[in-house]
Amino acid sequence: MDYPGNLYVVAAPSGTGKSSLVKALLEVDSRMELSVSHTTRAPRGQEVHGREYYFTSHEEFDRMVDADAFVEWAQVHGNRYGTSRKTIEDKIAAGADIVLEIDFQGAVQIKDQFPNAVLIFILPPSWPELRARLMRRNEDSEATIELRMKNAAQEVAQVDKFDFVIINELFERALFDLKAIAHAQRLKVAAQRRARAETFRALDIP
Ligand code: GDP
Ligand code: ADP
Ligand code: 5GP
Repeated sequence: MDYPGNLYVVAAPSGTGKSSLVKALLEVDSRMELSVSHTTRAPRGQEVHGREYYFTSHEEFDRMVDADAFVEWAQVHGNRYGTSRKTIEDKIAAGADIVLEIDFQGAVQIKDQFPNAVLIFILPPSWPELRARLMRRNEDSEATIELRMKNAAQEVAQVDKFDFVIINELFERALFDLKAIAHAQRLKVAAQRRARAETFRALDIP
């Protein structure tokens, strides 16, 4: 399927800084829109239904899976997460640039269906630093942190399935890298032909 907007998929082991980076990108890049996922996990702290996630019951999630309402979904750390087909199809058809903050299993499913999607993997600088960030975030129990650390080791082994990798050591550097990837996509010939059609015409480019 050809579409005018770009689809960016950002994946990373939990605690790497993916949400913080995507949030910072959305603040400085007004053309980016976030895809809000559905999840069966309970809201944490300040999370608001419809902002971080659509918090969905198991029954409703089952119903949506049966109705083929998800473009991808996956089981992550014991809960289910999914991207609604309608959310992203409406946005890309309208020419928006969309960011999906999803796990690596979902990222691969997206690439199968949208080969032009840009897959970005974020790595932590080290295992001790990842653990420190999970603890500092102070939102998960010790057992949950152990499960997330164990899953992280398997997740990073999938990095070769991605187009780009960013190491989130210095936050500002990682944000710069993320912005650079988004910017480069918009300089692709097909994207420039759309965005700068006037100039292409004035230069008589067929
Ligand atoms: P429907 O509510 O049965 O028409 O199905 P939807 O796909 O619209 O919603 C599925 C679940 O997403 C609901 O159980 C809500 O928890 C949640 N939800 C809340 N607001 C929205 C929304 O604006 N869009 C979508 N897609 N889901 C929402
Ligand atoms: P994720 O969305 O990947 O689970 P978060 O964005 O919630 O991760 O970040 C996890 C924790 O690490 C947060 O407390 C965040 O403020 C912190 N963090 C993010 N990036 C960095 C960084 N480059 N250096 C130090 N701490 C960071
Ligand atoms: P958290 O509970 O920390 O917000 O997210 C846990 C994991 O689920 C993260 O790796 C996150 O990227 C992933 N995730 C969130 N939304 C989706 C989604 O819609 N699809 C998939 N496949 N994974 C998701």
